Amino acid sequence: MNIAVVGTGYVGLVSGACLAEFGHRVVCMDKAAERIEELRRGGIPIYEPGLDELVAKNVREGRLSFTTDLAEAMDGARAVFIAVGTPSQRRGNGYADLTYIYQAAAEIAGLLGNEYTVIIDKSTVPVGTGRQVRRIIAEANPRADFDVASNPEFLREGAAITDFMRPDRVVIGVDNERAAEVLQEIYNPLYLNATPFVVTSIETAELSKYAANAFLAMKISFINEMANLCEAVGADVKPLARAIGLDGRIGGKFLHPGPGYGGSCFPKDTLALLRIAQEHGSSSRLVEAAVEVNAAQKGRMIKKIRDALGGSEAGKTIGVLGLTFKPETDDMREAPSLTILPALLEKGATVQVHDPQGMKEAAAIMPACRYVENAYEAAAGADALVLLTEWNQYRALDLQRLRESMKTPLFIDLRNVYEPEKMTDAGFTYVGVGRLK
Ligand code: NAD
Repeated sequence: MNIAVVGTGYVGLVSGACLAEFGHRVVCMDKAAERIEELRRGGIPIYEPGLDELVAKNVREGRLSFTTDLAEAMDGARAVFIAVGTPSQRRGNGYADLTYIYQAAAEIAGLLGNEYTVIIDKSTVPVGTGRQVRRIIAEANPRADFDVASNPEFLREGAAITDFMRPDRVVIGVDNERAAEVLQEIYNPLYLNATPFVVTSIETAELSKYAANAFLAMKISFINEMANLCEAVGADVKPLARAIGLDGRIGGKFLHPGPGYGGSCFPKDTLALLRIAQEHGSSSRLVEAAVEVNAAQKGRMIKKIRDALGGSEAGKTIGVLGLTFKPETDDMREAPSLTILPALLEKGATVQVHDPQGMKEAAAIMPACRYVENAYEAAAGADALVLLTEWNQYRALDLQRLRESMKTPLFIDLRNVYEPEKMTDAGFTYVGVGRLK
């Protein structure tokens, strides 16, 4: 099938490359000319493991191409995916900003011909957006033969290709059989694979994405609260998480306490869900609490660092490992580091940081940090070393080398990567999240 993908960011590029891998002919379109130029030159504008090879292979085999011209992308396309950004509105009210979606819809409308086309929204959007997209297109091009479908994306950055190619489920929101058949054809390799499909209304599909992210955010906030409670009562959150996670009804994933969730999805999607609920006279008190707990957790981490340093960051050198909101991505959107590091700097600390992928973007946002080449340089002469993002390369550090290069062997592990006892034996003062000392 010929498929156009509008928006070539994390989701658009991964979806485009994977759909091409399924055997479709995919044209990825983006307005950002430099992004498309880089892709045409063989570069990849984002960091996502395995994406460079997958893109190169499908380009080489003639199934994947890139353009800034929507007409070229839509030429002969039976399906047009919308994968543009839906950030929180700038006004800070938490509502999703649908400007890019509606713009894309209007542009698509002008290019629809006589051939039946399904416009598939992959972006995360509030309930009702699909209907609105349909209205925009129908008004702009009354003769167009089209349907609108919702197909929310559940991939995780850092594992995006596996998530797309072997998803836990595919959710499809349609309001007629004709559109459902086109989606079934697109995802045929997954049907053959026995992937569960949830075919439902457009509204239910739209809401399911927010519900999934809100639930995961609640799980993180829940374990963060349990970690804080562990600290208060002298219990250890790691065996606690295992004890509860082994219960099949709870599940062990997403029970890792830390500095709070970040990234391009959970913060904006939880807020958007709250706004959707409010707007419909409904409430979502659990999600509201998850958002509050998350904000408080970041503040708590700042205090944790300050307390470990003896009550003040002023004049101290703090080494930091990790900047991105999670490992295996270069995405800095809403990363906890963006809240924690400026607070340390403001209190007069010198902050020397390392991250395998996030330093370029972080340097533009936080120029006052010193950006160094590796973990050992971050530790050199430091009064404390803070592990903020659990990149694999920080999991087996040479502890003796670290300790010897630090001014004070204080290790603040905000991801509970290391075992307290092992760190104490290695000569460190160790501070984890919800751990027994
Ligand atoms: P992104 O910011 O990485 O990419 C969006 C792209 O859309 C940008 O390159 C932008 O230039 C382009 N764009 C905007 N308007 C356009 C237009 N009219 N025509 C062509 N291109 C246009 O965003 P993302 O992280 O890929 O997220 C996209 C959507 O997918 C969001 O709704 C997000 O919530 C959702 N989502 C993201 C993830 C994730 O992990 N990043 C996972 C699941 C769902």
